[in-house]
Amino acid sequence: MHASPTKNGAPGVRREIVIDFSNDRSSNTETVREVVGDLDLPQSRVSEGPLAELKDIMNADYRTAPALPAPETVRFLVHILSTSVNLRSPDWKKWRCHQDFRVRMPDFDGYEISVHAAPYTRGTGRSLWGFSSDMRRKPGGYFLMFLNTAHEPGAIAATVAHELGHYIHQSTFSDTGLSVSDLSGTFAAHLSDEAELFYDSLVALSAYNSATMQKVRPQRNTSPDAKTWSAEITQACDLIYRDFRIDFSRRRVSLGWRVRYLAATLHSFKLRRVLLETAGV
Ligand SMILES: [Zn+2]
Repeated sequence: MHASPTKNGAPGVRREIVIDFSNDRSSNTETVREVVGDLDLPQSRVSEGPLAELKDIMNADYRTAPALPAPETVRFLVHILSTSVNLRSPDWKKWRCHQDFRVRMPDFDGYEISVHAAPYTRGTGRSLWGFSSDMRRKPGGYFLMFLNTAHEPGAIAATVAHELGHYIHQSTFSDTGLSVSDLSGTFAAHLSDEAELFYDSLVALSAYNSATMQKVRPQRNTSPDAKTWSAEITQACDLIYRDFRIDFSRRRVSLGWRVRYLAATLHSFKLRRVLLETAGV
């Protein structure tokens, strides 16, 4: 399962600008390997945008993330996922495609969850993955969830899980409010945000099996090289549950967004691995 990175060109030649995926018939793994190899990430001079975000995720030591959920919180989430919120069940696919979908989760508070899935490309466009707004304190209140279907299906699945994390967190810890919370691509910033990392943990726990993750090596201590990174990304993409998998060879997805999706996938993978290490589930 481990992959070696594609050979790079001459030193100093940066090929990421001209990577052409249009003729790519190779597997997801091959594509990812090429992204890592061709982007020449260790020497990258790109300091902003998607590449910087990916690098932040790659470099972060998740074991020392300030906002890492406590083991009992992780076990609580696993319990929820194995009882009332199985995000792998076919029922949840309805959430991702309906413009107006109403559902209740009596195990929590019985309020209505109003799900709106629609493509949003104006304004901030795809920078908005989705958002939720908790209006349960109002008479006839409900929990509103918006999912931006302009994203790839695997990204929408992750957004459902993340926004549902908001709902569960607010139901469980009674921090119901009227605030609107959105999900943007700054996953590295979530490492020091307890609430956001709680939501992301729901994504990670849904996207990766405990049994599968037990075969994955723990995070290394030393500074990783390109080969280690490549192997890590390959594992992250190979082991993810199919509903959360993103096809990086899709022609209509820009290279920038592919790198962003890679960052999101790697974030879930690294988070899932450390949750297994700390909570044993
Ligand atoms: Zn959020």
